[in-house]
Amino acid sequence: MNKVVVVTGGTRGIGEAISREFAKNAYDIVINFVNSEEKANNLKKELEEKYSIKVLPVKADISNEEECKILVEKSIHEFGKIDVLVNNAGIVIDKEFEDRTIEDWKKTLDVNLIAPFILTKLVGKEMIKQKSGAIINISSTNGINTYYPSSVDYDASKSGLISLTYDSAVQFAPFVRVNAIAPGWVNTEMNKDLPDDFVKDETERILVRRFAEPEEIAKVVTFLASEDASFVNSAVIKVDGGWY
Ligand code: NAD
Repeated sequence: MNKVVVVTGGTRGIGEAISREFAKNAYDIVINFVNSEEKANNLKKELEEKYSIKVLPVKADISNEEECKILVEKSIHEFGKIDVLVNNAGIVIDKEFEDRTIEDWKKTLDVNLIAPFILTKLVGKEMIKQKSGAIINISSTNGINTYYPSSVDYDASKSGLISLTYDSAVQFAPFVRVNAIAPGWVNTEMNKDLPDDFVKDETERILVRRFAEPEEIAKVVTFLASEDASFVNSAVIKVDGGWY
């Protein structure tokens, strides 16, 4: 029987790369999406044909608790278990510090921090029944050591996700390993509007002198989910090419 992974925001950017990497590793995959139904169905077709696995696309806006419940219920209904949860979906709102509103904060925290909490609570319960599981949270170096006042709420959400990682690892011990990855800059849609000078300055601060490709994050995710990482727990792994 294949292992089962749930990937939030699994149809594009880092999430798509994570879905693809788990498919290569013979997992059945629940690909959560919010808008991109066609993309999700195409990905299902492609991955099922190529890797002989099962893919269940589930539309759910994870900022809504009811929809989180539906996502978990549909996953369990289809596969009977969840071995791995990847809290990948995230948003960033581009605005200067002084223009940021409480609404911006709430929207950002709802998707980036509260949804991972709700999903961890729901999926963690299933994993405890199974007596095994792995949860991987996609945080960011913005939650550790790269601060930008123009993403103050995003940075707080990513610090919060690291804190959620530590607390969940305690809550679900000894059966569930909970880890976080903190990527630095990655080539995805999220960064498509960054000004050229900013990208140039940031690239000079990365020791490998480039942004990451989404696959370079996804490979660390599948490692953390695997038995090769059986003693890695409550850890935060920076994948930032060495930013200074
Ligand atoms: P992206 O914008 O390409 O993808 C984000 C995904 O999240 C999309 O599929 C989107 O539909 C989904 N999503 C957003 N709101 C949702 C909601 N309410 N319900 C369900 N899905 C929702 O961005 P990305 O770069 O692939 O980012 C993926 C994760 O990696 C995010 O958590 C992001 O914060 C984190 N991250 C990205 C970078 C980077 O440089 N790109 C760096 C560090 C961390």
